[in-house]
Amino acid sequence: MTKTGVVYLVGAGPGDPGLITVKGRDCLRRADVVVYDYLANPRLLAEAPPEAERIYVGKTRGLHHRPQEEINLLLAEHARQGKTVVRLKGGDPYVFGRGGEEALHLRGQGIAFEVVPGVTAAFAAAAYAGIPLTHRDYTTSLGLVTGHENPEKKMSRLDWEKLATGVGTLVFYMGMANLELLTRELVRHGRPPETPVAIVRWATTPCQRTLTGTLEDIVAKVRKQGFKPPAVIIVGEVVALRSHLAWFEERPLFGRRLLITRSAGQAGAFQQMLEGLGAEVVSVPTIATVAPLDWAAVDEGLMRLPDTDFLILTSTNAVEFFFDRLRATNRDLRALAGVRVVAVGPKTAAALAAHGIRADLVPNTYQAEGVVELLRGLGVKGKRILYPHAELARDLIPRDLRALGAEVDAPVLYRTVMPEHGGDELRRLFAERTLDAVVFTASSTVQNFVKMVGKDAPQLPRGVAVASIGPPTTKTAQKLGLDVHIQPASSTLDDLAAAVVEYFRHQPFHAGDD
Ligand code: SAH
Repeated sequence: MTKTGVVYLVGAGPGDPGLITVKGRDCLRRADVVVYDYLANPRLLAEAPPEAERIYVGKTRGLHHRPQEEINLLLAEHARQGKTVVRLKGGDPYVFGRGGEEALHLRGQGIAFEVVPGVTAAFAAAAYAGIPLTHRDYTTSLGLVTGHENPEKKMSRLDWEKLATGVGTLVFYMGMANLELLTRELVRHGRPPETPVAIVRWATTPCQRTLTGTLEDIVAKVRKQGFKPPAVIIVGEVVALRSHLAWFEERPLFGRRLLITRSAGQAGAFQQMLEGLGAEVVSVPTIATVAPLDWAAVDEGLMRLPDTDFLILTSTNAVEFFFDRLRATNRDLRALAGVRVVAVGPKTAAALAAHGIRADLVPNTYQAEGVVELLRGLGVKGKRILYPHAELARDLIPRDLRALGAEVDAPVLYRTVMPEHGGDELRRLFAERTLDAVVFTASSTVQNFVKMVGKDAPQLPRGVAVASIGPPTTKTAQKLGLDVHIQPASSTLDDLAAAVVEYFRHQPFHAGDD
């Protein structure tokens, strides 16, 4: 059976990649081809399978959009080849997105299509700027209006009189070039000049900026600030509620751009934590975890599991590599029957739990010393212990436990290495001069960072703060010529994030921001 092609017209939402619908994301995950434009967040493209073809049809520096006709043909052509095509459009496909034209064309060609709505810019900008588009005390109606300067269809085609007084809240898309005209027309046709106006630029993204004023003074304010598109213009009494309801731009790290250097597998949760605080996070791993050069020692340990009394795991990496190897050697959880499992701390215990193993023991202090204390208390004389660990781990655990009379197997389970790529990206980021801080969560990330950046590292541009998770990392950074500005009292990711917040509470924004 040949596959029949289909086109999904998918709303990507306004920018925040979290604002695509579940259905839209599912379409992306099944796509053979993704056709996308300027306003769809590129981060969403990562949802498509790696082998999917990605076709950009938006504006590129100065050049104009591909003609609509060409896009229509492109969609139809790929669908005819039996492909699943996702046409990813900013916001909602049927709100000023020319989705209607694309759908009509597909219908005309007899090509199957479905439409997945998206969060349109007006709704998103209003929500993130703290402006309820309707509120019983202020307005009961809402209009979405295009303010596009289309030379053939003059703006005068809009029925200004009805718009000005007939609709409560008005939201203009593509209206920046015509801002002067549209504010003037609204006032001329009966809207009070003191009506509040908000302009929200790059809504829902880390670059969101909001400018407020009135129909009378907003044009001058826009000029003064050099406020540019893409932006929506919200007109109406509800705009006044922003002074009570703003939240997005108020988050403690909003407007700050942070570089994190954890390994790809470990960056996610920390990145989310910082983004939740409002930061824009760029992740360039300066460390990668890889298998040991030889599995023999680990495999021997696995073979002896039936006679092993304790298994000690001291990182989430160790947990993942351990279970990978267990599976790769055709074993399953039963291999751990009878073995008591020691996790160094709650994160490691949680990683174990995700694999179906409840840690028997977690020390009070989440360090190697804690593990030794714990086992000393239980008595380990004559016990067999397996401690598979990172290549450069301290030898405290095997040394001390052996001294207590245990028989300890301590094979290298994984190694950390410097990633092959990333140096160029790091140098580009520093050249852009938009970073506010670099965050290091281990000594090795600093060492590799300096190597990857090359000779310029010690002269990080002024204004870039260095954050370190704790004293060993700080010491390494200082030895390599980096000043450390941020270090939490205790070495956890939560405390590191809190220290970053505390630091930026007192830092002015870069020049150029409002
Ligand atoms: N289909 C889209 C609109 C496309 S028209 C939607 O439903 O949102 C393009 C206009 O949308 C821009 O000129 C701007 O007015 C608005 N827009 C889109 N994304 C925006 C964003 N993140 N912030 C502010 N305005 C945005």
